[in-house]
Amino acid sequence: MTLPTAEELEQRAAQLLGQWRVVDTAVRVAWNDRLTTTAGRAFLRLGSIELNPRLLSRAPEQVPTVLTHEAAHIAAFRLFGANIPAHGRHWRSLMRIAGLPPEVTHKISVRGLRKAKRRYVYLRVCESCGDRAIPPALRYGRCHGCSSRDSFLVMKAPATVAGRQALENLSTTAVRAKFGRA
Ligand SMILES: [Zn+2]
Ligand SMILES: [Zn+2]
Repeated sequence: MTLPTAEELEQRAAQLLGQWRVVDTAVRVAWNDRLTTTAGRAFLRLGSIELNPRLLSRAPEQVPTVLTHEAAHIAAFRLFGANIPAHGRHWRSLMRIAGLPPEVTHKISVRGLRKAKRRYVYLRVCESCGDRAIPPALRYGRCHGCSSRDSFLVMKAPATVAGRQALENLSTTAVRAKFGRA
């Protein structure tokens, strides 16, 4: 099951606002892959919603519930203004009209989501002894080979199989040449 497009979600959100008798039914919806454990969020004055694709791809059947939850925040703001509790009776009654339980938190597993995905891998070459490493996390400090300090040449590549392979294939001479060392 794939996730709906932002356009499909915008149409659905507009339908919901119409059902709730909101005059201005325009809502912008975007997928934001930088969200970690939050399923969605609403920007009331902007009238926009962001949904978490990494989380919701684990439970695509929850997309309508999360969309409705966030759309109800925008609807409540347009109907009743800013001085109402976020998950109070106004918001809850909109959820009930939409036929959904007014639950505040999602129950989708967030295991592993907090850790941001690595974007790059690094090849670290010691300038003094030529010791090479592709460490799990880039650290400076003392070389394991010769214990000289902070004398590393570092090359980076995208964190893909091909990127890692490219770093492994890179000769130490080539790395030194890139940094203008003979
Ligand atoms: Zn909420
Ligand atoms: Zn060294």
